Amino acid sequence: MDSSQNAPFTAVIGGGLGGLSAAITAAARGHRVTLFEKNEGLGGKASGIELEGIRLDTCGPEGDLAPVLRRLVRSAGYRADELLEFEKSEPQQRCFFADGERFDLVGGEDAMAEALIEFANDFGEGIRYRQFAALCEQLHAVARDRYHWRAGGGSIANPAARAELLRLRAGGSVAQSVRRFAHDPRVAQMLERLCTGPGIAADHAPALLCSRAHTQLRGALEVPVGGTPAVVAALAQLARELGVEICTGSEVSHILGYGGRATGVDVGGQRIAFDSVISNCDALRTYSELVEAPLKRPFRAARAEPTGSVVGLFLRLSEGYPHLAPNNVAFAADAAEESRALFQDGQAPDDPTLQILASPDGRSLSVFAGAPALRPHHDWERQLPAYRAAVLTKLQATAGLDGIAGRIEGEAVLTPADLAGRWGASAGALGGIASRGALLGSPTPANRSPYLDGLYLAGAGAHPGPGAAAALMSGWIAADAADADLRAAAVA
Ligand SMILES: Cc1cc2nc3c(=O)[nH]c(=O)nc-3n(C[C@H](O)[C@H](O)[C@H](O)COP(=O)(O)OP(=O)(O)OC[C@H]3O[C@@H](n4cnc5c(N)ncnc54)[C@H](O)[C@@H]3O)c2cc1C
Repeated sequence: MDSSQNAPFTAVIGGGLGGLSAAITAAARGHRVTLFEKNEGLGGKASGIELEGIRLDTCGPEGDLAPVLRRLVRSAGYRADELLEFEKSEPQQRCFFADGERFDLVGGEDAMAEALIEFANDFGEGIRYRQFAALCEQLHAVARDRYHWRAGGGSIANPAARAELLRLRAGGSVAQSVRRFAHDPRVAQMLERLCTGPGIAADHAPALLCSRAHTQLRGALEVPVGGTPAVVAALAQLARELGVEICTGSEVSHILGYGGRATGVDVGGQRIAFDSVISNCDALRTYSELVEAPLKRPFRAARAEPTGSVVGLFLRLSEGYPHLAPNNVAFAADAAEESRALFQDGQAPDDPTLQILASPDGRSLSVFAGAPALRPHHDWERQLPAYRAAVLTKLQATAGLDGIAGRIEGEAVLTPADLAGRWGASAGALGGIASRGALLGSPTPANRSPYLDGLYLAGAGAHPGPGAAAALMSGWIAADAADADLRAAAVA
């Protein structure tokens, strides 16, 4: 778009990874962008938690984050490596199993296959690992060519992607795909976790999500120095450089509309006109609470199920544990039982899988435990002490953090209720509405609203799905769709 007086006005609601990405992309295309964030700080769920002057990460490392960031920033005319420093995480992840065994997920397919043969004491496990890595690579190619970096979700069917998934015999869930190849249950647990991350049920999520693991299975894990808070700071700096007006402490109460089209936003009673509105608030809340105008068609959320949530314990210790790597996972003894508790019964599991991020000095830990999405009877003030005790027991029993309770000097906590209250996540869900089922799964909410012209959805709760990298991609897609629609309208 031209940068003259005719440049369109674009509002972005929310300054999470999806909102920042959308704002950067729209501004780079010449839009006059205003970003409204209800909190004083940017970054949403990826903003980190301040504990005793140190910012601890609220998001685990992900293989796709570095490549997606690079592409996003490049598309805005900059280089990510000038904004952020990246480093290789070695080991990628240290795994602690309930049977007392440990395993390091190392970089490179050959090294991993060899390590797995030794760990599982089965030559076949190494061969099947290579086959699984190849499948993930092929699934990634399907996602890249048919699904990612383009507007999707909603009722948009993708017959070509479906056909390719069937050809790859990847028609089931993540768990089914993994277990075709990993015969050792501990290896299966580890691979499922890589493909899904917190909040997602491996036994319900579509096999396409295995594409998420492709970088880590064959290569190294590249992480931004300073974690996701550093990513948020870099993106905020880039947005400002591109001229985005960032209004923090500014909650959008309504999306205005007229004649089936979004026309602006209401912030603190002030009604401001915009040509396009991009919402980084989740789809359920965007449609059920924010949209003021009658929708062209009603938004149906009857079948929508939220993803899972998380409890985060952020700990400052008197003394660190040298045996921890920067990124660790302590696995539940029974993955099926944990999944049933979280996703079926709506309960905190007795024996949760934990992700443990350790600071370089080892004294600061971010510990994430899966939690069910909020249900009416949940009361996290009441539930937290018991779950905190279960997490500390697990840290000691499985991850070997002996005497952890006695070493805690400072502590902060995040519960599903905090995710809902602080960042407006419906039911405290980590990734909005869950995509469940075979092949592509049930569609995620569309980036281009089918209900209100000029409204776009960005973030982990919209296409292409959950996770930090997908949230960034989603923001780019939403801004790209808004820009394309305005250009088409200008030509018509
Ligand atoms: C403890 C924890 C661990 C995690 N671990 C991982 C992991 O290991 N791997 C991974 O990939 N992901 C992980 N995640 C998830 C990841 O952080 C999120 O998927 C991602 O940050 C979501 O970004 P988003 O832009 O979609 O949404 P959000 O971060 O939720 O951003 C939405 C923003 O919109 C703002 N907002 C909402 N409503 C309004 C309104 N009306 N007006 C103005 N502003 C509004 C909110 O305040 C928020 O800042 C984790 C998250 C948490 C909390």
